[in-house]
Amino acid sequence: MKLVLGYLYPSVMSQYGDRGNVLTVVNRCRWRGIDVEVEDLDVGDRVDPDCVDLLLVGGGADAHQRLVHEDLVAVKGEGIRRAVDEGAAAFAVCAGYQLWGHYYRTAAGEELPGLGVFDAHTVHRAAQTGTRLDTIASAGSVRAVGNLVVEWGAHVLVGFENHGGRTYLHGGSCPLGRVLAGGGNNSEDGWEGCVYNNAIGTYLHGPALPKNPKLADHLILAALHRRYGNVRLDPLDDVPETAAHDRTVARALARPRRWLRLWGQGVA
Ligand code: GLN
Repeated sequence: MKLVLGYLYPSVMSQYGDRGNVLTVVNRCRWRGIDVEVEDLDVGDRVDPDCVDLLLVGGGADAHQRLVHEDLVAVKGEGIRRAVDEGAAAFAVCAGYQLWGHYYRTAAGEELPGLGVFDAHTVHRAAQTGTRLDTIASAGSVRAVGNLVVEWGAHVLVGFENHGGRTYLHGGSCPLGRVLAGGGNNSEDGWEGCVYNNAIGTYLHGPALPKNPKLADHLILAALHRRYGNVRLDPLDDVPETAAHDRTVARALARPRRWLRLWGQGVA
């Protein structure tokens, strides 16, 4: 079996180690004898929906999103939407997740149109409150920064978040899971991420997949299923992954975060 992985904007959108998600998929496939071809899809490159099985995109600052949003919609949009509608898997993290919604309003109040794969929109907290980001403290006061723990069906996902954007899911869309610790989509409704077909949007950085092997295998299976039908993945020895996961979850749940005070979420 062979899996084609499309890595969107590797040179622009890969904050907080998100490239590690690519390495995780590649290794977890190769350890099982599944061949992986990684296609770097940078600005100007089209997405061939008949060729790509799994799309990965990472995070970036507002300035990075400004650099790629036109290309994402005009050059890659049609291919990505068709691939996802036909069952390709996708994992879009933070800035990537935000641009796969309908739009992202930046801290400066500029509206960047998105792909509309996720029925959601995002507004930077500074644009909501009119906060000027001219000091470290003011910039920090509008961001969710720290460990993020999410209940995902029978499993718990863990990662790191750092975003000013607040994402609001619209009626028809389905969250990835329920927030157990951290901000998640918007620190108001208790939900994190969004799922459409086999595409997952999330605020889980870190990178997320090394510490969440079940999520990594879920994406690999969905990607292979489209091309090969019902396939099974041989179990891997995930002792180090599970140890890292469990330790980070325990730490995150043991210490609720400082930033809640900054956001005036009523923590004394
Ligand atoms: N620029 C976006 C925000 O601040 C995304 C940040 C990120 O990808 N870490 O919300």
